[in-house]
Amino acid sequence: MTLDNDFVIPSELLPVDGRFGSGPSLVRKEAVVALAEVSETYLGTSHRQDPVRNMVGRLKEGLAQLFSLPDDWEIILGNGGSTLFWDVAAFGLIKNSSQHLVFGEFSSKFAQAVDKAPHLEVLEIIESEPGDAPSLKPSDVDTYALTQNETSTGVSIPLERPSGIPASNALVLVDATSAAGGMMWNPAEVDCYYFAPQKCFGSDGGLWIAICSPAAVSRIEKISSSDRWVPAGLDINTALGNSRKNQTYNTPALSTIFLTVHQVEWMNNNGGLGWAAGRSNNSSSHIYNWAEHHAHAEPFVSKAEIRSPVVATIDLADSINADDVVDICRKNGILDISGYRKLGRNQLRIATFPAIEIEDIRLLTKSLDYVIGRLL
Ligand SMILES: *Cc1c(COP(=O)(O)O)cnc(C)c1O
Repeated sequence: MTLDNDFVIPSELLPVDGRFGSGPSLVRKEAVVALAEVSETYLGTSHRQDPVRNMVGRLKEGLAQLFSLPDDWEIILGNGGSTLFWDVAAFGLIKNSSQHLVFGEFSSKFAQAVDKAPHLEVLEIIESEPGDAPSLKPSDVDTYALTQNETSTGVSIPLERPSGIPASNALVLVDATSAAGGMMWNPAEVDCYYFAPQKCFGSDGGLWIAICSPAAVSRIEKISSSDRWVPAGLDINTALGNSRKNQTYNTPALSTIFLTVHQVEWMNNNGGLGWAAGRSNNSSSHIYNWAEHHAHAEPFVSKAEIRSPVVATIDLADSINADDVVDICRKNGILDISGYRKLGRNQLRIATFPAIEIEDIRLLTKSLDYVIGRLL
């Protein structure tokens, strides 16, 4: 790059809030202000007493409403985020054998965690190239592992049980870390829908939340009564017992729980999951449409039906260096739009989670037009 990259994007083109990262992601100011307001009655108080336990209760009720959960489902939470939950699942949800759809970094990490577990026997991996998506093959495994939205590539897949396999034969586990709250799903097709709240739920990291069907709960109880050794901190049956009492096994981040509740209630008060998913859909459609009509950009995911509504990945033409675009944007307050490192493409990756305003997405593409125009 020989040009001077220290130019300024005109202020009328700049988004009001410059946070477009795919996680951690934009935390709404209203939520942070509300947290400050309860700082003396909630923060710094015991997680075994009512103020915090009631907040965990609100989290569970709010999520049950948001996802229209059947009455007999349970919501379990614990510390460590989604990555830790992969180990939790390997210990407490997979009986012996699992099939994994692998189509990017996150889905591959769960398969790797399972591969190394000495107590599990069969691992089936169905893989596709980054930017595409594989589908399940009915088999005799006891667990199927899907990722609703592969955050590393911006590919999302429909959630469906493998055909002819009921929940009584095999569980469907869904990593919904970047999808939950921004995409629709049908509980009839899933047994365990898990996520961490630093993406669509505009909170902080460190917590995992697993929404479990009766079949998943019964699997948890069965494995727990077997002679499998499970480290206490990874024991989902222990987490289940605590969650039923609106607690966690060990101390959670109280601010993370509060911010998540605030975001869930914000979604519910405005029309629920359809409303939240609609916001993401409008924002991502704008970006894909922009890229399709741009001479120097195009959506990375060529099949429109698997393009993510919550994380848009955009390839740039060779004549534009994405690192320069990302760098100039950052200097102008537009943050975290680089492609996933390991993918190694000349790419931008832009979160379109529900908290991000569509008007800011429109301004973002105007800013990108300006930056690309200057770099050409
Ligand atoms: C972000 C993300 C994770 C990792 O979440 P952590 O809370 O950082 O462990 C896992 N899976 C998907 C799909 C993600 O987007």
